[in-house]
Amino acid sequence: MRFLAWLVLVLLVIHVVRKKMTAAMRPPPAPAEQARRSVEGESMVSCAHCGIYIPASEALSGPHDQLYCSPEHRALHVSS
Ligand SMILES: [Zn+2]
Repeated sequence: MRFLAWLVLVLLVIHVVRKKMTAAMRPPPAPAEQARRSVEGESMVSCAHCGIYIPASEALSGPHDQLYCSPEHRALHVSS
């Protein structure tokens, strides 16, 4: 009976140690931090029609290398 108690204790210790090891090896979750950095690192450009500032990746290019915030503003600026 003593042997059984020791066996349970040893298995419990092994289980706790393995659980702590897998938790320590897991990389820290930081998707919010990465998203914030990419927003901070992106350059802003102004719309040639209304002048509002938008991220360069969301800007629409038009004639004469001008940038626009939306297809509507591109169409309005080109037609005027
Ligand atoms: Zn605009």
